[in-house]
Amino acid sequence: MESQKQFKRRFSFEFFPPKTDQGREKLQTVRDRLAEVHPDFFSVTFGAGGSTRDRTIETVLNLHSQGISTAPHLSCVGGTRESIAELLDIYRESGVNRIVALRGDLPSGMGASGELRYANELVAFIREHSGDTFNLEVAAYPEFHPQARNAEEDLKNFARKVEAGANSAITQYFFNADSYFYFIDRLEKMNITIPVVPGIMPIVNFSSLVRFSDMCGAEIPRWIRKQLEAYGDDSDNIRKFGEEVVTRMCERLLAEGAPGLHFYTLNQAEASLNIWNNLGLANRDKISF
Ligand code: FAD
Repeated sequence: MESQKQFKRRFSFEFFPPKTDQGREKLQTVRDRLAEVHPDFFSVTFGAGGSTRDRTIETVLNLHSQGISTAPHLSCVGGTRESIAELLDIYRESGVNRIVALRGDLPSGMGASGELRYANELVAFIREHSGDTFNLEVAAYPEFHPQARNAEEDLKNFARKVEAGANSAITQYFFNADSYFYFIDRLEKMNITIPVVPGIMPIVNFSSLVRFSDMCGAEIPRWIRKQLEAYGDDSDNIRKFGEEVVTRMCERLLAEGAPGLHFYTLNQAEASLNIWNNLGLANRDKISF
């Protein structure tokens, strides 16, 4: 973990672009609550194949104009160089300076995979088109990407994104801090020393967490799953237990040198803020983890 300790810690919150006026109003309230704790940036997801293109742009530009730097996610699957260049130009002209560059997952039956097949090709294209305009974040998978041929190939593919010009990475969420520490050790052995910020998923709803985790290849450890199962419909206890488990993991990550945290908020403020407060991040410049 030594390599990670040299980086200034940064803290961020991720949103998805709302579909309805009600969703937009709710996100504004969530944004206002989270802005009070002065995160380093917000980010906004992008539906693979461009399914949320306009809503992502609108949400990013709206949030960015309110004073907190906001990073669009941008996935290449299903897109063309031309359509991606168009987005890059919109963001550059609006003063956006950070992009989360991804391959994305095209829903089955949604057509061809596009001109850029993998995230490393997207990173290279963004550098070619926009030079150093954007700070580029890429995805990292401490428990390995579900489609990777094997763990070694996945590490090599991560290295390709760094070689192509990624500045830092955000991980898929995990509930097992050792997978993150091991991942960083492996990167250090490969002389890869960019910041790799843990992605944190607050636990608020058991069934959707299971569905999501199965899809993206994140493991819910048996003891957590069993305890959550035992709470059944008792959402208060699910939240309380989830908050405690995730807080403890974050404490450990920061104590060992993780260079910040990125919260998958699912457009809800409460759960992320509770973890934030438990960690004492309001005074983050003063505490030593
Ligand atoms: P890649 O890095 O391209 O890897 C995908 C797979 O291909 C891996 O198995 C890898 O080992 C393999 N691979 C990579 N390069 C090569 C190569 N050159 N040759 C052969 N194999 C290769 N999805 C969205 O649709 N929208 C979002 O907004 C979004 N945001 C995300 C944010 C974060 C922080 C994370 C962690 C994930 C996000 N995702 C999002 C999900 C992501 O798009 C999926 O996990 C997707 O399956 C992989 O994207 P990637 O950028 O990691 O792909």
